[in-house]
Amino acid sequence: MDSSVQEDRQAIRQAVRELCKDFPSAYWRDIDKYEKYPQDFVNALTASEYLAVLIPEEYGGAGLGVTEAGIILEEINRSGGNPGACHAQMYTMGTLLRHGSEEQKRRYLPAIAKGDLRLQAFAVTEPNAGSETTRIETRAVRKGDRYIVNGQKIFISRAKQSDLMLLLARTTPYDELKDKTQGLSVFLVDMRNVKGNMQIDPLDMMVNHHTNTIFFEDVEVPVENRIGEEGKGFRYIIDGWNVERILVASEAIGDGRWFIDRASSYARDRVVFGRPIGANQGIQFPIAQAYARVEAADLMRFDAAAKFDRKEKCGAEANMAKLLASEASWEAANVCLNTYGGYGFARDYDVERKFRETRLLTVAPVSNNLGLAFLGQNVLGMPKSY
Ligand SMILES: Cc1cc2nc3c(=O)[nH]c(=O)nc-3n(C[C@H](O)[C@H](O)[C@H](O)COP(=O)(O)OP(=O)(O)OC[C@H]3O[C@@H](n4cnc5c(N)ncnc54)[C@H](O)[C@@H]3O)c2cc1C
Repeated sequence: MDSSVQEDRQAIRQAVRELCKDFPSAYWRDIDKYEKYPQDFVNALTASEYLAVLIPEEYGGAGLGVTEAGIILEEINRSGGNPGACHAQMYTMGTLLRHGSEEQKRRYLPAIAKGDLRLQAFAVTEPNAGSETTRIETRAVRKGDRYIVNGQKIFISRAKQSDLMLLLARTTPYDELKDKTQGLSVFLVDMRNVKGNMQIDPLDMMVNHHTNTIFFEDVEVPVENRIGEEGKGFRYIIDGWNVERILVASEAIGDGRWFIDRASSYARDRVVFGRPIGANQGIQFPIAQAYARVEAADLMRFDAAAKFDRKEKCGAEANMAKLLASEASWEAANVCLNTYGGYGFARDYDVERKFRETRLLTVAPVSNNLGLAFLGQNVLGMPKSY
């Protein structure tokens, strides 16, 4: 790799570390404990333009790759923070960028790049469909120059902190379709001025993602806010999944490194039975093992990101990166908790908070079982379970 590219990436890493120093563990502890939205952190990240790195320069962004975006998120997690409150502002716009009309891109992307418009709500999951996205039931029925939306979504993060929402809805009834991946369409819903009734009810979750149930009752969406062709929405959404998986893998790597740093440092300092607990192989080896797994997952993350940035197929690598990184980080979390003993359960040490936060990454935005199914079925050619 070109050494100037490497230097640029190192500079981003360093700059994000500096920014994160203003948001120490005590800040995140408070956000978690009182379930607040980390507005000051989001403002700082927006002002630094890190949330706009994936937007091309012609639309006001930095025009960088998913490799750089991943480094930014990794460093936030590694600092002890959590970018879940705003990470979707980075990548949700990808559907608009890849499949929107030029007019839509000019209308929205520059304002998203500046942070004047928040597009960080992404509404796919439904109670009756779960991981089987092609079974969603929320209907969008065309009436002249608008669609009328009725239905329900669940687990929709940041809906109350977003101006726009990317919505996947059904435009053709399921039983009228030959190809079940057709019949869904993507819409950009302007939540600042909704016509109809859109009820957003916060869910009480183990981790603070500002996650909601959303009910749509005769919500009107102008036809001009449909992205791409009617009925092709599932393909457009799938198209964004690789980026999301690579970025979530990067966050998991950041968490994994945070746990290893904390665990090894505590194991060096904590003296019991007259010696540092890290001298005991029962403590030392699990930390070393978790470290090796995090580092191995990191190689897969960079491989997936490089392929994506070279516009090569990367479905297998993106799925493997997300799977390996989230599992490595979860292992590191458990090892860190064991290393801290009882102190690991005390909120002041941050381990229990990060433990809960990193656990989510094995389940959302996609469950690791679905990643394994992708590998088993699409890469290894075994029979499909769905
Ligand atoms: C904090 C949080 C934030 C979220 N934010 C969003 C958001 O912003 N937008 C959004 O659209 N969604 C969001 N989600 C939803 C998330 O994407 C889903 O929870 C996830 O995709 C799994 O769907 P499900 O919960 O319905 O599980 P289900 O589909 O009911 O699955 C339950 C279990 O069965 C397994 N399973 C199902 N089918 C198979 C199979 N064929 N083979 C093997 N195993 C299988 C799954 O892997 C899982 O372990 C969020 C979830 C959480 C927890």
